[in-house]
Amino acid sequence: MAGDPINLLGLPRAELETFVAEHLDAKPFRARQLMKWIYRRGAADFAGMSDLGREFRARLAEVAAITVPQIVAEQRSADGTRKWMLRMDEVQGIETVYIPEPHRGTLCISSQVGCAMDCTFCSTAQQGFNRNLTVAEIVGQVWLAHRELKDTRPDGRAITNIVFMGMGEPLANYRNVVPAMRVFLDELGYDLSRRRVTLSTSGLVPQIYKLAEECNVALAVSLHAPDDELRNELVPINRKHPIGELLEACWHYIDKQNGRSVTFEYVMLDGVNDKPEQARALARLLRGHPAKLNLIPFNSFPGTRYRCSPGAAILRFRDILNEHGLIATTRRTRGGDIDAACGQLAGRVKDRTQVRLGAKLTGRAAAQSP
Ligand code: SAH
Repeated sequence: MAGDPINLLGLPRAELETFVAEHLDAKPFRARQLMKWIYRRGAADFAGMSDLGREFRARLAEVAAITVPQIVAEQRSADGTRKWMLRMDEVQGIETVYIPEPHRGTLCISSQVGCAMDCTFCSTAQQGFNRNLTVAEIVGQVWLAHRELKDTRPDGRAITNIVFMGMGEPLANYRNVVPAMRVFLDELGYDLSRRRVTLSTSGLVPQIYKLAEECNVALAVSLHAPDDELRNELVPINRKHPIGELLEACWHYIDKQNGRSVTFEYVMLDGVNDKPEQARALARLLRGHPAKLNLIPFNSFPGTRYRCSPGAAILRFRDILNEHGLIATTRRTRGGDIDAACGQLAGRVKDRTQVRLGAKLTGRAAAQSP
């Protein structure tokens, strides 16, 4: 058979069934057997797949491969959080973080090498953007973490939740993120319920509508400001898709997917978005809608102009939201000692952007932007 072997890692079930039919003239149950080996047992070669015939395995090895990213470094936090740097090519790397808690284990995965969204408070944004991850590179993060972690729990299920909150804007890599999510949800894949797979977005409105038609997962939205003027500054994509349109898309998603609520992420920046009147404005915006708020203490990184709001300001902000009938929680910072907390993932990115998004949308030249 000519051509490169096809990487089976990350192929959703329907595509794997097509693959075995076309390339191996095999029935769909072969695809199911393969999925069990790849995801449940974490197999990376065909030789050990004992319930597949010898000849079938040999043919598989000619046309297919299970190629996983390579771990180049691992760090462990005092609080149990683990961070892996994965090699993407000679120079570039992405990061994946595992956050253990008593009753769950959350894997925070990346969707791109860098990010082009240019949010002013995020360290990934400072690195610029290089490329989208492939489906195999997205699913590969879970595959690797599962391999590293499965012996840490008696039932082998160390990963109970997956969140797209690592590097990158997942909806900007829609084409590869959706098939990866199908593998996370598939009972022969990672068998996670739709409430345990969370896609976090800076607010790409057209893709939220598209997702509503195609895939059912929990939605988190990086709001960070109660009005367009401030959000334009913090999250530049807001200039293209302002808050009103974004919220419409969110409510549509919940309706369509029969979901419970959208989680709005709100990073607490001292003196910027943490005033009581801003909490009240936020409450007015979201009250009566299926919305929850997750307040994230700002995590610092070298060169940032922001500081985290003081603890008392965060509490007051949360209390005001609660008094207005909104459910607001504060995210506990994890892995701060190994730069694994929200917004601290930097990886290694060779920037290919010529003009930063913020500059592009305001018409300023990149060189003049701060
Ligand atoms: N691109 C996606 C996923 C990114 S990161 C998104 O924008 O939602 C996940 C969350 O961490 C987002 O809400 C992001 O705004 C937040 N975040 C980014 N930088 C941060 C920082 N320095 N401190 C705390 N949270 C940060």
